[in-house]
Amino acid sequence: MFTIKGKTCDWEVVIGLETHIEVLSNSKIFSGASADYNPTIAPNTQVSMVDAAMPGMLPVLNEYCVDQAIKFGLGINADITRHSRFARKQYFYPDLPQGYQITQPADCPPVVGRGWIEIMGDDGNPKKILIERAHMEQDAGKLKHDAHPTKSFADYNRAGVMLLEIVTWLDVKNPENNSFITSPDEAERYLREIREIARALGVSKANMEEGSMRADVNVSVRPVGSNEFRTRTETKNMVSFKFIKTAIEYEAKRQIDIYENGGTVTQDTMRYNQGDGTTSVQRSKEDALDYRYFPDPDLLELVIDDERIERIRKTMPELPAATRARYMGELGLAEYDAARLTESTDISKWFDAAVAGKKERAKGVANWMISELFAHPENWDVKNETQNAAPDAPRIICPSDLAELVDMVLENAINGKQAKEIFIKMLDGETEPPRQIAKKFGMEQITDTSAIAAAIDDVIAANTPQVEQYRSGKVGLLGFFVGNVMRATGGKANPAVVNELLKKKLEA
Ligand code: ADP
Ligand code: MG
Repeated sequence: MFTIKGKTCDWEVVIGLETHIEVLSNSKIFSGASADYNPTIAPNTQVSMVDAAMPGMLPVLNEYCVDQAIKFGLGINADITRHSRFARKQYFYPDLPQGYQITQPADCPPVVGRGWIEIMGDDGNPKKILIERAHMEQDAGKLKHDAHPTKSFADYNRAGVMLLEIVTWLDVKNPENNSFITSPDEAERYLREIREIARALGVSKANMEEGSMRADVNVSVRPVGSNEFRTRTETKNMVSFKFIKTAIEYEAKRQIDIYENGGTVTQDTMRYNQGDGTTSVQRSKEDALDYRYFPDPDLLELVIDDERIERIRKTMPELPAATRARYMGELGLAEYDAARLTESTDISKWFDAAVAGKKERAKGVANWMISELFAHPENWDVKNETQNAAPDAPRIICPSDLAELVDMVLENAINGKQAKEIFIKMLDGETEPPRQIAKKFGMEQITDTSAIAAAIDDVIAANTPQVEQYRSGKVGLLGFFVGNVMRATGGKANPAVVNELLKKKLEA
């Protein structure tokens, strides 16, 4: 368990995340304008009359966007609401032409209800993280503040693009239900899992650097063993795993400090200061009342029937949780390995391509990937399964290369040490497949028993005193003989075969 030592007691952290992902669709959630707002597109060229909030313009719900929300809802094991609604959240800011955001507050209700995802908890066991809801809403435009002190510019290309906001749940009524995030590492694992689910489903690129995924981080602390939830603060718009983790830790310590000095934490909205990794109060938190929510009279109730849900369910690919279960169940991988190999769909696809249905390869491929390829990103293009064409580019190791290397070890054609040498040669730019590299450098192991037997006979003949000692009970000398045979064969003999034959001959 992640705890922080205080002066009077140990403290634990309670974390709630509100994650926004930018949803992939051709057009915006309530208009026909293109939802592509990438920075190369000229400002304000993808803005319809609806997005610009011209008087009398009416929103029309994009059904594909609804499908995306349903798909994601199924991906997080959630209830899909059969009758949901949209409401207006009023606030004034220049990036929001309407003067309100169309969204789905908790009691509206939103299209995706209660759900959960599984992550690896800090104790190494699977942990369920409960999700309260996921709702559809509009994104706002982007403001640019010019170096010129008096000018700001608004680009509404992004205004009206669909966002899905996923909110984790604290089961306040059942405090013993600790299916929520309780450490910075769990927060990161939760966000990575959300990202992978969104990507696997084609719902979002969910890329924090690009801004297509961001999170509001709610943090409170309580003494270890306590069941109550204390006042939380919220740090908004976080766009990096690292910042999120630093912010949680800093914020938790700040709150503990307040409590231990007899103070109370107030429910504030915090700002994260990138420079020094601290948080500071930005404003006191606004209440729902401040937003004057009311059902949007321009939009009908959103009705979803079973048929639609089933149609979408049929199109769902295997999600990371199922892939992990398959790796552990069918392929016998350890939990840690399965987790590493499902960090992204690209990685699991690469792994599946290398294993290619040959289960006996799985462990070897997993080991090579995790201990070597992850450490050599320059030689591993996880998206690209083929060799790099540019002549001076580093050698790209493909799934078939690793499969061949693992097979050679399995067949005892080479030993582990030789496999490593071949691997290093590939990193160094040898472009042939492993079998040819082995041939080229004379690394093929001698598995031919007659050749090994001959070497053993020589070694036995040259070391009669040791043979006698062995035969009279000093079996620890086996290593001595193995070493000699290996030297005699230039390290190429298969050690398993050497061991077996040696024992036979010595004990004959
Ligand atoms: P809002 O921030 O819009 O008022 P909610 O009340 O729905 O939203 O809560 C936002 C998030 O804060 C949720 O993920 C929720 O689980 C989390 N949260 C609520 N209370 C606490 C608390 N005491 N400590 C940590 N997180 C909390
Ligand atoms: Mg919030």
